[in-house]
Amino acid sequence: MIRRVALIGLGTMGPGIAARLSRGGLEVAAYDVSPAAVERARGMLDAAGGVLDQLGISAPAGGAGSVRFAGTIAETVEGADLVIENVPENIDIKAETYRALDPLIGPSVIVASDTSGIPITKLQAHISHPERFVGMHWSNPPHIIPMIEVIGGERTEPKTVATIRDLIRSLGLLPVVVKKDVPGFVENRVLYALLREAVDLVERGVIEPEDLDTCVSWGIGYKIAVVGPMALLDMAGLDIYKSVSSFLNADLADRKDIAQLVLDKAKDGKFGIKSGEGMFAYTPEGIGKLQGERARKLVAIRRILEDRG
Ligand code: NAD
Repeated sequence: MIRRVALIGLGTMGPGIAARLSRGGLEVAAYDVSPAAVERARGMLDAAGGVLDQLGISAPAGGAGSVRFAGTIAETVEGADLVIENVPENIDIKAETYRALDPLIGPSVIVASDTSGIPITKLQAHISHPERFVGMHWSNPPHIIPMIEVIGGERTEPKTVATIRDLIRSLGLLPVVVKKDVPGFVENRVLYALLREAVDLVERGVIEPEDLDTCVSWGIGYKIAVVGPMALLDMAGLDIYKSVSSFLNADLADRKDIAQLVLDKAKDGKFGIKSGEGMFAYTPEGIGKLQGERARKLVAIRRILEDRG
């Protein structure tokens, strides 16, 4: 049974994961190489706790767990049943992290990576108990989005996948087991197919960026939260899908490279919210307001979808 979790990496994802796990009754030890990231994480942890209150997520009968910040990897993994790795999406950094924690943990400890899409089979090559290594892909913001992908690599034991799936269920979250270790898993493959088409349409001048977002959010997005793509095929009718896809599939974006629009913005340091400009421009005050507004709306929608009004 998993009671103690070591969380390594406290950037965008780590603090929300720590908040959700501790609210679910687990004891979390958290660590980041950067003292600035640890300081930011303390504030993010409080904010995430407030959002969990708004979501009505209460602690289990045994009470809430806790989050302690540790000063070294050794202190972090001490006594852990599960290690969740949340360091940057770079195979060298991840491999170095596994090499550092490997001699400090027993063979029964599960190591899970929150990688967005590096195949688990590649990552588990860097750890001495690959059968205990698994993908646990949270969705951002992790304290709000309830779906988590669970992915086994070629050498992961089915028991490890089942343990993580059951843990996610016991927290009241929604595990989705990805049966084949394909790059990007499922969530990001579907998202990136959509993003490739969206960027292509904007780049070709078919639509303005604001209108693209209105079209997707109020057309497909709002609906897809209630009716998933497979159910949507049945709602639209497979005869209609067959007929439209007979000419449309051949016209959809299928580029293998990165769109010039994205390369140009990245070259100019326009990375989005984090740099103040990307597809849209942001002010520091505007960013705080936007993030609060997005959290409030996601909480409200989730309560409705869960029939909790
Ligand atoms: P991030 O860059 O915001 O944070 C990573 C943190 O890891 C940083 O604070 C950094 O200081 C720390 N770090 C780097 N090396 C370390 C080490 N050796 N030991 C301890 N800490 C170390 O990254 P993120 O967006 O939080 O992503 C983390 C992982 O989660 C990635 O694999 C990413 O692909 C995945 N992920 C990200 C998102 C997202 O939307 N950002 C969503 C799902 C999954």
